[in-house]
Amino acid sequence: NIRKSLGQNFLIEPKFIQKIIDAAGLDQNKVVVEIGPGIGALTQALATHAGYVIAVEIDQGLTRVLKEIFAPVSNVTIVHGDAMKVNFDQLVAEVPHRQEPPFPYKIVANLPYYITTPMIMRLLEEGFQFSSLVLMVQREVAQRIMAHPATKDYGALSIGVQYHCSPSLVSLVPPTVFHPRPEVDSAIIKLEKREHPAVHVSDERLFFSLVKAAFNQRRKTLLNALSNSGLLLSKNSWQEVLIESGIDPQRRGETLNLEEFASLANLLGRKR
Ligand code: SAM
Repeated sequence: NIRKSLGQNFLIEPKFIQKIIDAAGLDQNKVVVEIGPGIGALTQALATHAGYVIAVEIDQGLTRVLKEIFAPVSNVTIVHGDAMKVNFDQLVAEVPHRQEPPFPYKIVANLPYYITTPMIMRLLEEGFQFSSLVLMVQREVAQRIMAHPATKDYGALSIGVQYHCSPSLVSLVPPTVFHPRPEVDSAIIKLEKREHPAVHVSDERLFFSLVKAAFNQRRKTLLNALSNSGLLLSKNSWQEVLIESGIDPQRRGETLNLEEFASLANLLGRKR
């Protein structure tokens, strides 16, 4: 019995399972965390290619079945839990003793599409010690994650992800390779975590509030969007700060790249 409310569309086509495996860059020394193993088709393949697999599944019934299926497999642990809440580093630290240190590990996820964005942001913001993330997402979300400035897909999600990672498209994925078929097109993407954020930002909260404010009113000029944002300054001061940052106040927020958002946020931080 498939639970649609948990976004259960199972990937059944081996060719696409293989693409995920290849993109993850596994070897017998690596630990991989799988989020949302479902009926375990990907888990099985991960177990042959990685040193150890920890799979976190929220559905109690599926967890029970998975535990039975993988009981004879010595390098797989099935965890019943909510991936929005578990501490991934702690799960990995508990991997049975092995020679190689388990950090950084890899993450592979084929999540329900309604929690993709909060899940990605949680993984990136909490600073878990993984090196890369291979994800099945809705095609539109893939486009937003990889978008460049001044395109319609560019927004707070593009900046949030690109600040921490370098994203790439692994493959587009048609609905026909899932059971049941989802109503949307999908894509496999890879996010490689950067050693340091893409730009230097002295106050991340301020940086992300600024980004949010700039995109909240996409069709307004940066000057108007920021003046309406409640982020402290009067319109005149915004005018000055923008000019001092070398950014034309009449531009739209969606045309700014990461460096421009960062220099604006850093200058703003010094003025406050
Ligand atoms: N990866 C599997 C596959 O390709 O066959 C299943 C993918 S299915 C789209 C999503 C899976 O994530 C389901 O098994 C669902 O129960 C599980 N899931 C949903 N929300 C979850 C959460 N918060 N934490 C962990 N697993 C979750």
